[in-house]
Amino acid sequence: MAVSHRLFRPATSTVKNIFSSYLIRSLSSSSGSSLDPEIDLKEAASQLEKSSSSSSSPHKGRNFHWVFLGCPGVGKGTYASRLSSLLGVPHIATGDLVREELSSSGLLSSQLKELVNHGKLVPDEFIISLLSKRLEAGKEKGESGYILDGFPRTVTQAEILEGVTNIDLVINLKLREEALLAKCLGRRICSECGGNYNVACIDIKGDDHSPRMYMPPLLPPPNCESKLITRADDTEEVVKERLRIYNKMTQPVEEFYRKREKLLEFELPGGIPESWPRLLRALHLEDLYDKKSAIA
Ligand code: AMP
Repeated sequence: MAVSHRLFRPATSTVKNIFSSYLIRSLSSSSGSSLDPEIDLKEAASQLEKSSSSSSSPHKGRNFHWVFLGCPGVGKGTYASRLSSLLGVPHIATGDLVREELSSSGLLSSQLKELVNHGKLVPDEFIISLLSKRLEAGKEKGESGYILDGFPRTVTQAEILEGVTNIDLVINLKLREEALLAKCLGRRICSECGGNYNVACIDIKGDDHSPRMYMPPLLPPPNCESKLITRADDTEEVVKERLRIYNKMTQPVEEFYRKREKLLEFELPGGIPESWPRLLRALHLEDLYDKKSAIA
């Protein structure tokens, strides 16, 4: 597989050139939502270009600009967060940015809640603007590089990202479909520390075509046990809708990166103990992990 881990290159073309053909669109045109168009796509893309430029970063050396793709429940957050600690780059999950926004009050927040709680995507303009703000804040703190989780989720988002930065690698996590729904339904979050856990014990019998798959629960430590909450969009009906939307809107993003030879397909063989070492091997990061573990 021709996946190269290229160093960051600043964008060579401006968003204006790339998106000159985009008409200023209202938010409602991209996702069928009725959100009031405060931001347009061109403006959001221009914000993203400014915030993703690394020129002011004091860090030297290697930057990682990685993306995690994969269906809801596949484990993007788990593996992106582990890699983020290993590589020393921020893990930016656009779903977390959206949930933070939802926790504020106001009309926009209640309109967004409607979309998110029904498993729909929020408009491209909105998510790009949120991401730009997060990148800008990170730049001010001296962050460089990132592991994006949950972005891009549409081809338009992927095109915009491609126009403003050079993504080195896209890791496409895959998991057997039977496990995805169970994993979403079993997800629990600690309302105090934000820790992610899973109470589902997945045990899929093997057959002639596929081996047994066992994923043990990821239980919380005793001090989180009484503070666990379930995400409002982790109900069976909404998870099925999110899976449908993934197949319709996000699967074409896989093809977008496959064509550009940036896609690394990774089939999760089971739970974290089995999958993490294999993922490290696929990314040629076992040595770095061993070195870091030896120091710790
Ligand atoms: P997640 O935590 O990644 O499952 O995201 C939760 C919800 O946030 C999604 O179902 C969408 O409603 C919204 N969201 C997150 N990222 C994006 C994105 N890149 N584009 C549109 N909507 C998003």
